[in-house]
Amino acid sequence: MTDQPPVRVRFAPSPSGDLHVGNIRTALFDWAFARHTGGVFVLRIEDTDQSRVLPAYIESALDTLRWLGLDWDEGPETGGPYGPYLQSERLGLYNDWVVKFLESGHAYYCYCTTDEVAARRAAARSGGSGPSGYDGRCRNLTPDQTAAYQEEGRRPVVRLRMPDGATTFTDLVRGEITIENEHVPDFVLQRADGSPLYTLAVAVDDVLMKMTHIVRGDDLLSSTPRQLAVYRAMGVPESEFPVFAHLPFVLGLEGEKLGKRYGAASISFYRDEGFLPEAICNYLALLGWSPGDNRESFTLAEMAAEFDLARVNKNPARFDVQKLESINGDKIRELDPAEFVRRITPFLHQAGLVGDPPSAAQAEVVDVAAPLIQGRISKLTEAPGMLGFLLVDETEFTVDPEDAAKFL
Ligand code: GLU
Ligand code: ZN
Repeated sequence: MTDQPPVRVRFAPSPSGDLHVGNIRTALFDWAFARHTGGVFVLRIEDTDQSRVLPAYIESALDTLRWLGLDWDEGPETGGPYGPYLQSERLGLYNDWVVKFLESGHAYYCYCTTDEVAARRAAARSGGSGPSGYDGRCRNLTPDQTAAYQEEGRRPVVRLRMPDGATTFTDLVRGEITIENEHVPDFVLQRADGSPLYTLAVAVDDVLMKMTHIVRGDDLLSSTPRQLAVYRAMGVPESEFPVFAHLPFVLGLEGEKLGKRYGAASISFYRDEGFLPEAICNYLALLGWSPGDNRESFTLAEMAAEFDLARVNKNPARFDVQKLESINGDKIRELDPAEFVRRITPFLHQAGLVGDPPSAAQAEVVDVAAPLIQGRISKLTEAPGMLGFLLVDETEFTVDPEDAAKFL
């Protein structure tokens, strides 16, 4: 064994919506990998696309992670040695690298308009051949051509010059992957307005934040050759590249892309629906992983103790809301009675059944009656319907456990 540097992994959400099932499955696996290896779990907010990002989503992302118990070691609020951890506060760094890439020839100015690129692509396609993306037209502009474009008032984007040949890397889940670079056109690093693109920011940050592993969803697999090309342009030796592990897609039960209704629903939706964080973490862990003994019920701490990327399945996982519900019922039964009361109280309050905090009389009723429903509900939202009749008039009502049991 050679000396391995301590593991550093990151979860890097783009705050253009609430975190959903797919995002959190990724966050969970990153967290578990960091905790299992005694490494560092970094939270980085990828908020460079100002047209899509809303600050409220940053707040709700932090909130969701905290609620689930996925604590980060470096990131917003905690800080850390490689901050800032919001990409919108790192724009100068990306620009510095673009300048270096232009100087070293790893990048070049491209004056083509989007329409021109699209028209040439369509023409190449109808001719049956040619590159599938940008055709490299501006790779070797002469000073005269450049001057002429500037005269026309064009403002250039910056593209990375993809090397010829192929990109090969070993993915810890999917094995060795080779992609011919002819399928990876010279891509834009920086827009004409100077803003960075995802591929630039993600690669620069993964290097500067010293990531050792990139554990993320399969949907990002195809961007990996571009990121490796940026590492090379930055002069990072191959032996220091982070290792990739792409987690399997999460599909619906019929193998369809996750629809709005369940899988694409935000985690806060499940929280409002009365799911426990324990159940969400346990269930999402099963979307691609299981402990060595294949048991389906475990705690977050147990997952951290046993997590191993080698046991991540590469086949797509299927999101089954009924299974989530059944695990939720199990986790509800496992709560100790006082904790169960604590969990249902906000739902009772929301239904107008108890005050915030509940009065002494209300609390007494709930304490007595809660154990009677704990074994029978699979979502906390069922509690108000089952306890409502006991809480109609808090001033006069006292509850006799035997009567309540008969009712329930
Ligand atoms: N910000 C990217 C996204 O939310 C993820 C980046 C990554 O994990 O490499 O899709
Ligand atoms: Zn061009």
